[in-house]
Amino acid sequence: MDQDRKPLGLNTRTIHAGAHPDPATGAVAPPIYQTSTFAFADCHQGAARFAGDEDGYIYTRMGNPTTARLEEALAELEGGAGGLATSSGMAALCTVSFALLNAGDHLIGTSSVYGPSRVVMERDFARFGVASDFVDTSDLDAVRSVLRPETRLVFVETPANPTIDLADIAAIADVAHDHGALLMVDNTFATPILQRPLALGADLVMHSMTKFINGHTDVVAGMIVPASRELLDRIRPVHSYLGACMDPHQAWLALRGLRTLGMRVRTAQDNAGRIAAYLEGHPKVEWVRYPGIASHPQHELARRQMDGAGSLISFEVSGGVDGGSRLLDSVELMTLAVSLGGIETLIQHPASMTHAAMSRKHRLAAGITDGLVRVSIGCEDVDDLIADFEQAFAAV
Ligand SMILES: *Cc1c(COP(=O)(O)O)cnc(C)c1O
Repeated sequence: MDQDRKPLGLNTRTIHAGAHPDPATGAVAPPIYQTSTFAFADCHQGAARFAGDEDGYIYTRMGNPTTARLEEALAELEGGAGGLATSSGMAALCTVSFALLNAGDHLIGTSSVYGPSRVVMERDFARFGVASDFVDTSDLDAVRSVLRPETRLVFVETPANPTIDLADIAAIADVAHDHGALLMVDNTFATPILQRPLALGADLVMHSMTKFINGHTDVVAGMIVPASRELLDRIRPVHSYLGACMDPHQAWLALRGLRTLGMRVRTAQDNAGRIAAYLEGHPKVEWVRYPGIASHPQHELARRQMDGAGSLISFEVSGGVDGGSRLLDSVELMTLAVSLGGIETLIQHPASMTHAAMSRKHRLAAGITDGLVRVSIGCEDVDDLIADFEQAFAAV
């Protein structure tokens, strides 16, 4: 390509990244290589592939052409050295941690991180001698205060789930690097359309592609994108042995979803902006958290760090737990379900659902109050969503 050409836009890249006609048939859509293993022409070729002297496939746990396209696409969109697709977002987190942490190491995480991420790091990694502290990563001093000489990984979710708190990626990268630690960002909520953590200094990005990237509420999938070849090479062997690999059909579905990511993210975001304003003006709403409105404590950081505020909104319904459950029991168009980032609007109550495994003390300390409702705004016509809120609020 002409070197002087302007870099391609994000929408264009989302549609074309890792997309090339199939070399064997010219198929424009990616073929699904639904095979567990790949034949070698002869022993010499088999040996060369195992030794890494020749490119090519061996066994699907170690790599597959359909999955490779998705890995290539995410690596390009995040600006990383490569991608490692995993069976789920949790598998991405566990694979990275298993690859990079040793007994005696310490990690720091965002206190309101996705519930199971915290449980696995705090409870299960502790069994292998990895200590952790979970702090409000929107506060740099809170991060600094728990740094130890053994801190090897800082794991930040921004925007965080479900408080919609942001962390300053560039500033935390500096703090982590000054202490010889790596920074990993869970970029599930923002997606590369709205935020590119590697360009801000993070060392790794992970995704639950179950959410926005696949976007159609029909696949569970994850991805790891390290910034450097060195990190990619450290994680790749563990990725291939640990067994949290992606299935080719799963990869094909996620690729299909990825191609419309830009359109979906922007449509949902436009809807969310309108709904956040509606909720802010509603007498039965105590407060609204959405990075796109001036009342968000990190509105300025959102403008600096992100290319848009996304489509996740949290708010507190008056009447606490009871008010929240009445609202949720009364919605008709919106679906009462966990997960997020699909084309349909989902509404949930973290205290009784996603974050129920956390103690109430930890939950409140992380800002997840009893009446907090989180809504993942979808791509429906926004007036229909507002009408659904109207009729549901009438029951509160
Ligand atoms: C859902 C989610 C995960 C876990 O991903 P799975 O695909 O469900 O394993 C991790 N981080 C965030 C922010 C999530 O929303």
